[in-house]
Amino acid sequence: MYKMKTLVAIAIMAAGFNCTAQNKPATNDVQKYLDAYTKAYVKLYTQEQEAQWRSNIEILAKDSSNVIAARKADEAMASFTGSIENIEKSRAYLKRTTLTPLQKKQLEFILYTAANNPQTIPAVVKERIKAENEQTQTMYGFHYHLDGKDVSVNDIDNMLKAEKDINRRFHIWEVSKHVGIPLKKGLINLRNLRNQSVQALGYSDFFSYQVSDYGMTTNEMLALNDQLMRDLYPLYRELHTWIRYVLAATYDQQQVPDYIPAHWLPNRWGQDWSSVLDVPGMDLDGALKHKSAQWIVKDAEQMYVSLGFDPLPATFWKKSSLYPYPDDSAVKKNNHASAWHMDMNKDVRSLMSVEPNAEWYETAHHELGHIYYYMTYSNPSVPPLLRQGANRAYHEALGTMMGLAAMQRPFVYGRGLIKPDPKAAQIDSILPLLKEALNTVVFIYFSSGVMTHFEKEMYADTLPADQFNKRWWELVKKYQGIVPQGERGENLCDAATKTHINDDPAQYYDYALSYEILYQLHNHIAKKILHQSPHATNYYGHKEVGDFLKKIMYPGASKDWRQVLKQSTGDELNGKAMVEYFQPLYKWLQQNNATRNYTLPEHMGD
Ligand SMILES: [Zn+2]
Repeated sequence: MYKMKTLVAIAIMAAGFNCTAQNKPATNDVQKYLDAYTKAYVKLYTQEQEAQWRSNIEILAKDSSNVIAARKADEAMASFTGSIENIEKSRAYLKRTTLTPLQKKQLEFILYTAANNPQTIPAVVKERIKAENEQTQTMYGFHYHLDGKDVSVNDIDNMLKAEKDINRRFHIWEVSKHVGIPLKKGLINLRNLRNQSVQALGYSDFFSYQVSDYGMTTNEMLALNDQLMRDLYPLYRELHTWIRYVLAATYDQQQVPDYIPAHWLPNRWGQDWSSVLDVPGMDLDGALKHKSAQWIVKDAEQMYVSLGFDPLPATFWKKSSLYPYPDDSAVKKNNHASAWHMDMNKDVRSLMSVEPNAEWYETAHHELGHIYYYMTYSNPSVPPLLRQGANRAYHEALGTMMGLAAMQRPFVYGRGLIKPDPKAAQIDSILPLLKEALNTVVFIYFSSGVMTHFEKEMYADTLPADQFNKRWWELVKKYQGIVPQGERGENLCDAATKTHINDDPAQYYDYALSYEILYQLHNHIAKKILHQSPHATNYYGHKEVGDFLKKIMYPGASKDWRQVLKQSTGDELNGKAMVEYFQPLYKWLQQNNATRNYTLPEHMGD
């Protein structure tokens, strides 16, 4: 994950037909305005990041001063970016025909950012910020009770991975959904306030506003996600069949269900099934447990240096918060890993709680992917306002790809972490692929399917609040092939149990698209640059891989994201690479499922 709340707009305003007689002075006053805006923006942005950083690394039980400071900084930013002056000026300047492409992009960014906080309706914006904070507090402050005892979300997740008793599983799963009840009212309120905020600047609804960041309409975004699901559907249908039989055996059930009962899966939303599978022969945890946490981060840096990137700046090591606090520390920190771009320049930091194990090894490579992206687009050719990913999905794609590359066998062997065992590699070349698909392929049907369609209907079609749960479960059945046990009434709000519905709204398709981009880039690197199998690469030491990555990273958001993809891989955004990558697994699953009963329709949507 990365931390950058402000987004980039792509062409949404029609070009005007103003008189062009005064070309020169017109361009100059635009540039003067942009310079002044940038100066003020970078200052407020840096203050906001510093305040947010502090409230994430210094959580004190009885002291909310960091939280208050963070909210104040958010409000200061909102009132600047949404000011009437900025709305009117960026609108007026965008009508000019004499703008350079970079000026146009920056003005679009200004207007897009303003649309989320328009001070033309200050009361609505203020109410929305307040409602968002309250929703977050309700969500993170919620106490889950299991058998009369407080349990954490981590406890619930671990139990859902390990518990074999089916009745007990149902009980735990049901408890995990309790948080939705107190969140429903706030979600209805937020849906209205978010829609009202962006409608003031002419967007039809909040979902369309978020989608416009890609330079697309809502229908185009839905079509893109639906196409990705259609491309992967034959594979998903095989995975769906495979897991029904595997889980029925695991839980000792005679009857294999047609749809997967939600409480059978190891994840609260059925979005990741990978923990049902252990892959033998690659004990990376065992290899790493003798290393230090410091070594983990240093080794991840070494990977990037081997590709030709500079070592991380000294301030990264000084100012980051990379390791867990002692258990008895009075001060706590956010345990979720993130990468921060503090000043839109070279102050980059990471928040992690690294321990010497495989998960953190992958995460360290992932977070440094964001950090090197920040550092690479912070260059003189990219104005600060456009120092962002080519689109929101690129950041995650690059980070995840580097994490994935660090998990591939030849890389791990090459780093001397595990001794190659040719026999093990032969036996289980499919299992790592299956585990990966149970994570990434399965995820697409939750993100592109359930989340994207639910949020679209909630914001764009004003789905009635007394149908939230009914509609949620219709979509879960349609896209994921999962059903709940028993009635899920409208007093419950199972959609709101997903964090992003509350505090990262209407952009969950970013993650699905990031996988699509990831496999496209990885496929290109493996085949065209390294001439290795995409399933067994070793990026390490290959400067030409670094050059390829730098070319994608360098322009940030100053270039259209489609152009960036086309120029780097020669292709449009599509699911072909992902389908091809999992082709050996598809064949394997077909053989293994040969005598099994398929319950999903042969074609998606039948
Ligand atoms: Zn990330």
